[in-house]
Amino acid sequence: MQTSSPSARTAFDAIVIGGGLVGAAIGYGLQRQGLDTLLLDEGDIAHRASRGNFGLIWVQSKGLGAPHYQRWTRGSASEWPALAEDLQARTGIDTRRQQPGGVTFCLGEEEFERRSEYMAQMQAEAGNFGFEYRMIRAAEARDMLPGIGPEVTGISWTPYDGHASPLHLLRALHEGFTGLGGSYLPNAGVADSTAAPNDFSVHAAGRRFTAPRVVLAAGLGNAALAPRFGLSSPVVPERGQILVTERAQTLLPMPTVSLRQTAEGSLMIGDSKENAGLDTVTQSPEIMRSMARRAVRCFPWIADLNVVRAWSALRVMAPDGLPIYDQSEQFPGAFTANCHSGVTLAGTHANRLAPMIAAGALDPELSLFSARRFDVPATA
Ligand SMILES: Cc1cc2nc3c(=O)[nH]c(=O)nc-3n(C[C@H](O)[C@H](O)[C@H](O)COP(=O)(O)OP(=O)(O)OC[C@H]3O[C@@H](n4cnc5c(N)ncnc54)[C@H](O)[C@@H]3O)c2cc1C
Repeated sequence: MQTSSPSARTAFDAIVIGGGLVGAAIGYGLQRQGLDTLLLDEGDIAHRASRGNFGLIWVQSKGLGAPHYQRWTRGSASEWPALAEDLQARTGIDTRRQQPGGVTFCLGEEEFERRSEYMAQMQAEAGNFGFEYRMIRAAEARDMLPGIGPEVTGISWTPYDGHASPLHLLRALHEGFTGLGGSYLPNAGVADSTAAPNDFSVHAAGRRFTAPRVVLAAGLGNAALAPRFGLSSPVVPERGQILVTERAQTLLPMPTVSLRQTAEGSLMIGDSKENAGLDTVTQSPEIMRSMARRAVRCFPWIADLNVVRAWSALRVMAPDGLPIYDQSEQFPGAFTANCHSGVTLAGTHANRLAPMIAAGALDPELSLFSARRFDVPATA
């Protein structure tokens, strides 16, 4: 990853803490807005969801009961083409973005019924904003997705979904950021800080840096950082495991929520969810087995492919699973950004959230994402 050292400079327009997908997208957006930005990033000991994720730009299951999240996610999917083009033009890096739509498989009649209700409710909640989808029976789905197995009763489909290479995206954001003059400092965990309205000082890598704006984008690290800036980021880890097969000829024309084919031909199998604390070392064979089994029930030909890699990584999860965006009331100029969909939301983070932060205020549409939603009245 390209490193642009802040050399002897210590004063910036903005400091972003955390160089994962969220911090890099916001830093890139801030730098594009003309803010001289410093991106501070901890070392390899950190839990970095951005280097272990599945790579979906996923819309169709996001925001049931939270139409603002559905709109924000859809907005990001629609920003993605411009972001990918912009990154490619500036850095030459192809994020491997494809947005051909996506599907969720239903195995058995009960799953099909449940999914139908889910999608109908998503559409009802979308209101005038609209939500295009289809529930498609197996006979027709076979024409769209050759090779699906006999246990598949049908699929849900929306045109909004897609996928990209998360590592190419991360690299492109970093190179785009430094190419625009942004300063990236790795191995710089923020150990200490002081906060005053529009006046922040952070201590990292043995140096002190100042700026009138600070953005907390440190993933799971935000939980500890936020209170120092008058913010709250009650995020906890949720472990996900991923299996990768050997490369195959192109067989999957679009991603599913738990299966996608990379541009290089590997199949990625994922979507497990576990509470395992901060453990990313121990694998759960029974979970891997059930992920692989479901993939084979969807596409029996997958059974002939060898699994060549497996890993687990930690999602950055708020109590209700939605993102958290806030500006500190106590220390205006301090912002926090937390989410478990850093690939999907890269479009809005770079193209919409960063300009709001540069302008010094979050749009009212983001007020529902404030951590204040978790405040519980002291007495009834
Ligand atoms: C298994 C799995 C599958 C996923 N699949 C998808 C998917 O298909 N689509 C999708 O959109 N999202 C997916 N995600 C989620 C996505 O990866 C995360 O939303 C995203 O990576 C979060 O990015 P982040 O920058 O907030 O956090 P991280 O990637 O964890 O980065 C945080 C950064 O902050 C730094 N840091 C921490 N503390 C400090 C500190 N005190 N000082 C300085 N730096 C600090 C760390 O070094 C790290 O680089 C998946 C996640 C997992 C685990």
